[in-house]
Amino acid sequence: MKPLKSGAVIGILGGGQLGRMLASAGAQLGFDVSILCPEDRCPAARTAAQHVRSSYEDAAAVLEWARGCDVITYEFENVPVRTVQTLVAAGITVRPGAKPLQASQDRVAEKTFLRACDIATADFAEVNGPGDIAAPLDRFGGNGILKTRRDGYDGKGQLRLEAGDDFDAAHKALGNHPAILEALVPFEREVSVIIARGAVGDMLCYDLPRNQHVNGILQRSVVPCGLSDAVIKQACDAAQRLAGALDFIGVLALELFVLEDGSLIANEFAPRVHNSGHWTPEACATGQFEQHIRAVAGWPLGPVTRFHDAEMLNLLGEEAFVPPKTLTADGVLTLYGKHDAKPGRKMGHLVRRLGPAT
Ligand code: AMP
Repeated sequence: MKPLKSGAVIGILGGGQLGRMLASAGAQLGFDVSILCPEDRCPAARTAAQHVRSSYEDAAAVLEWARGCDVITYEFENVPVRTVQTLVAAGITVRPGAKPLQASQDRVAEKTFLRACDIATADFAEVNGPGDIAAPLDRFGGNGILKTRRDGYDGKGQLRLEAGDDFDAAHKALGNHPAILEALVPFEREVSVIIARGAVGDMLCYDLPRNQHVNGILQRSVVPCGLSDAVIKQACDAAQRLAGALDFIGVLALELFVLEDGSLIANEFAPRVHNSGHWTPEACATGQFEQHIRAVAGWPLGPVTRFHDAEMLNLLGEEAFVPPKTLTADGVLTLYGKHDAKPGRKMGHLVRRLGPAT
């Protein structure tokens, strides 16, 4: 595909806050962004040039929409692989393609793919019934996390387990879905690599944020992450191997646990812009949303130079509507336009400058 001209149409599968911020970045670069999402008034639909309502499974409707776009991308990893394969088979350019979805939708496939890229992961075992838990849990030293293989996010679909727990009840609590048992990683900190890979295979890594989670939900990301240059290089090298192996075009996030001795263990990756990169538009020469749009449009990547230290605070549930904490806060506020502030739901974020770049 030739680089797109300003005025071309970029189609995005998915209509959440990531699509909303991608649509704004696309508009800034002169593109018309068209959102395909089943929900009425989804966050992205209200900043995009066009919104087509359709289920992601309706191949004919998705194909008709895609034919009106110059390139297609996605903003969440649970887009059906078959839908993307249908588009590709019809000659439509989808960036990134089906491979990153296939590799990231299932936690067993994901860990297997990471290991094939020479990236360490936690020990794990497949769990198809409660009888599959005791032996690997014992092997992992009696502590583990049971997660559904598919569709888990923000700490949903996962449970900590210890030897002696009621495994029948645990598996039932996860809906008896196919699951994975992971060894509990005794991490010292969590970081992520936000990496961009352009249409010609060039790659740039942003400075790594350190990520703090509460109940499995990202609460705060801060840059710099405080790791040595050597560990940061290892993390970026791992992300480059992953992005290369996926033939990735766009922005990708690799989430890593860091152990006391500086060794790295991958938790998971997201084939899309990422919550832990939300500080980049304010703190860097090119934000992650603009970067993704540039990559999928076939434009050169922009510089990822960071101008200052920063923290990003997620605003969850009603928090986003309480004026003292948000409207009067010192920092750049982004709200996603969601109407329903369920507890724990990501409603917006705040980026605060912490001082000159260190
Ligand atoms: P996930 O949904 O896999 O991204 O997990 C959410 C958060 O739970 C992670 O960011 C960690 O803080 C924690 N977590 C997940 N898996 C593990 C693990 N195997 N060992 C220790 N902590 C974990």
